[in-house]
Amino acid sequence: MKTTTETLHGGRKSMHRLTLSAALLMGAAMAAPVLADDHLKVVDTPLELTVHMHHERYTSYDESWPVELAAREMTGIALKDATIGSNSKESREAFNLLIASGDLPDIVGGLAIKDNVNRYGPEGAFIALDDLIEEHAPNIKAFFDANPDLRKAISGADGKLYYIPYLPDGFYGRGYFIRQDWLDKLGLEQPQNVQEVHDVLVAFRDRDPNGNGKKDEIPYFARQWEELIRLVTLWDGRSSGSDTYHDFFVQDGKITHPYIGEGYREGMKNLAQWYKEGLIDPEVFTRGASSRDFLLGENLGGMTHDWFASTAAYNDKVSQTVEGFNFIAFIPPASVSGVRMEEHRRILIKPDGWAISFSNEHPVETIKYFDFWFTPEGRNLSNFGVEGVHWTMVDGKPRFTDEVLKIDTSVVNQMYAIGAQIVRGYHQDYAYEEQWTNQIALDGIKLYESGDYLIPDFLGVSFNPEEQAVYDKYWPSIRTYMLERQQAWILGTGDIEADWADYLATLDTMGLNDVLTVMQTAYDRQYN
Ligand code: CA
Repeated sequence: MKTTTETLHGGRKSMHRLTLSAALLMGAAMAAPVLADDHLKVVDTPLELTVHMHHERYTSYDESWPVELAAREMTGIALKDATIGSNSKESREAFNLLIASGDLPDIVGGLAIKDNVNRYGPEGAFIALDDLIEEHAPNIKAFFDANPDLRKAISGADGKLYYIPYLPDGFYGRGYFIRQDWLDKLGLEQPQNVQEVHDVLVAFRDRDPNGNGKKDEIPYFARQWEELIRLVTLWDGRSSGSDTYHDFFVQDGKITHPYIGEGYREGMKNLAQWYKEGLIDPEVFTRGASSRDFLLGENLGGMTHDWFASTAAYNDKVSQTVEGFNFIAFIPPASVSGVRMEEHRRILIKPDGWAISFSNEHPVETIKYFDFWFTPEGRNLSNFGVEGVHWTMVDGKPRFTDEVLKIDTSVVNQMYAIGAQIVRGYHQDYAYEEQWTNQIALDGIKLYESGDYLIPDFLGVSFNPEEQAVYDKYWPSIRTYMLERQQAWILGTGDIEADWADYLATLDTMGLNDVLTVMQTAYDRQYN
């Protein structure tokens, strides 16, 4: 993506050329442009609105994205890039620069804007959208009428809505994967509970399932080390309340943090033991993003917890070099108390999306434009790209063209490159992903869907300024301390049982109770 981003910044001429060649590559140069579709027109006279759109993968809004050009044709509104901070990949940094400039474009969008718009909205920087939605955005209104809790979850401390979110689709994100061919070879069954997981990992360690005569297997590995901590759920602990690692969660109406729970302590004690026994990748904290690639490709890794689609895809790649390679999903093993839980799910609503700034002179046209993306046509455009170019309607459903499905770049990256699946306020359609997800992943998801393993997500709170100040004062250092201890306990440089009382006392002196109190106040206000 780096190259693309850099190329996109190379000025209008090269942008234009890039888009043309990308279109040629997809065999789309001959396709007719989007049909003018007057019922989607927002304005009779073309209108330009400026936009700040920052994401680590696309650090500005590209006016030549085919999706933008099609939306322009359909609605009469053209977005002009006015992103600040495009030379950095840090969206928060870009937002801070934008606010500091005092010069806000008509639309402010991008990654993780929720906290910012909820903070600066009530101060006057952004327009509350509630009345505008009520009067001018029937499609957005219909969504929120059907999902009132989601509306509450993203509203500001004053109860008003300041941005239109990116709404993901689908349920299960990650699942447990295991080398079924190793199990078969060793005459073992898929582990059904925490004890059986332990025994299978021991067998992977000791019985040379990759058959090279060396004791080189890495029984459990994780591309993100947090997926090791996730295993505390096998001892009824928690590792996060949402799809953000280390997040708070709600237990019987009370906000708490996973890393102060009994189950966490018990789980960490056991995981430290597993680590000591050589059942966990010794480099789990340092190997990083390439671990899955390396450990599967080298026929070394036995079990992990990771995304269905991308993990199952290794069957296509690795089976060409590792005979019999069969890495499949299995249902969450039962915890010590018999609970089968999948802690991770696709979050229902993202902190990403777009907002209308106070200086926007066309708020009605803008909300109507936002609403366009929630019409069937706008939703298809935001998900699949341009009809007739990137997809066609087959039996009433958008289907990617063979060119898109066959091209040697992931569909996700292709979509980013044309301005689809970007973090404007839109409603994702899982069908976009289903079409290129392999059968092993689809089978895995189906297996999980046939059970009832999902738990409710914590969707966050919106602080008032006083609460925000408490959170900002204490939380960052508390979190750092928690993660330091966590790593030390796994690596064996501390003993969690011996340290636990001190650990809790330290958290107390660091202000954890104050943080939990302001979160509870905000939570009660927001959700009750
Ligand atoms: Ca071996």
